[in-house]
Amino acid sequence: MHELALCQALIEQLCAVAREHRAACVARARLRIGPLSGVEPALLEQAFTLARAGTIANEALLEVEQGAVRVRCCECGREQEVPPNDTRCSNCGNWRTQLLSGDELLLVSVELGGAAGRIAAPALAEPA
Ligand SMILES: [Zn+2]
Repeated sequence: MHELALCQALIEQLCAVAREHRAACVARARLRIGPLSGVEPALLEQAFTLARAGTIANEALLEVEQGAVRVRCCECGREQEVPPNDTRCSNCGNWRTQLLSGDELLLVSVELGGAAGRIAAPALAEPA
């Protein structure tokens, strides 16, 4: 199960952040998932519940925001948001476009809890 492996990596990362800030627990994690990442948000949330058990992220809330697919046209150079199933240029119709975003899986922010108070950690590297 793809999502479970991702969540285990994510939990490890969250716990590392919490240790770094000497926080007692992880309160909240916010992820951005691109439509082309191959990750199913509902499965990810289920897997997160499994993966967090027994860790200091046990009570953590997972928030998922959906990313958008953006491409740059190789012909006319226009940057645009396109549907996930049709990445052609809407300006000139060229199918040769370069993906700018949409396949990302990003940890956007982490909120830590416990005696240390609430700390909003800045954006981190990709768990993958
Ligand atoms: Zn174009």
